[in-house]
Amino acid sequence: MADIESNLVAVRRRIRAACRAAGRAEDAVGLLAISKTQDAAAIRAAHAAGQYAFGENYLQEALDKRARLADARLLPPIEWHFTGPIQSNKTRAIAEAFDWVHTVDRLKIAQRLSEQRPATLPPLHVCVQVNISGEASKSGCAAAESAALCHAVAALPRLRLRGLMAIPAPPAEGDDPRAPFRALRELFENLRRDGLELDTLSAGMSDDLEAAIAEGSTIVRIGSAIFGPRESRITNHPSRP
Ligand SMILES: *Cc1c(COP(=O)(O)O)cnc(C)c1O
Repeated sequence: MADIESNLVAVRRRIRAACRAAGRAEDAVGLLAISKTQDAAAIRAAHAAGQYAFGENYLQEALDKRARLADARLLPPIEWHFTGPIQSNKTRAIAEAFDWVHTVDRLKIAQRLSEQRPATLPPLHVCVQVNISGEASKSGCAAAESAALCHAVAALPRLRLRGLMAIPAPPAEGDDPRAPFRALRELFENLRRDGLELDTLSAGMSDDLEAAIAEGSTIVRIGSAIFGPRESRITNHPSRP
């Protein structure tokens, strides 16, 4: 667990250096710790090291861990982000249990999240996920459809559209690693010119956070650089990446 603390220090240092290199303020980029496949003890260790925002991809796994952390009464409380693909039969539990959802990629899901967000909670913060590399097998709406989806999501009463999210394909040899992040930023700036009040670009992971920050990312989603490789738990989750 000592590793988690020193890994967090190293990741924060990378983020600050990338901000400086891009001429941005050192606190311009938030760090979301992606704790999928990690156990509750790992989350507790990261929290003890000053990390308060966590992203989870699998609903049942997230709920199980939260139940295990409930007794700890962690302060400040954890801000929970859902960062995995969403099936429509899971929207109610997600709307009830999370503060943010990064992976809204179709209107039906957004409508259900809005309808099912409990009245006792503030609006759910959401990002629209864009399939920025145009991969056939990836989730995310097509770039060409993102503006229409964003305008529709922004009109839903119990959601607060914050911006865009993407998981670019790993760059091929000779590709500019910043190109997909630049394309995402252009979509984002067009939406803002159209009058949407967006402030969030959720982009950048352990291997590409520098390229994402250079192109304006405001939240990087970091898993393995904090918690170590996920392979060690594959035996528990045989069907998971
Ligand atoms: C797993 C995952 C991450 C973190 O990936 P690392 O390469 O381990 O940093 C970020 N975002 C999403 C949506 C993920 O599923």
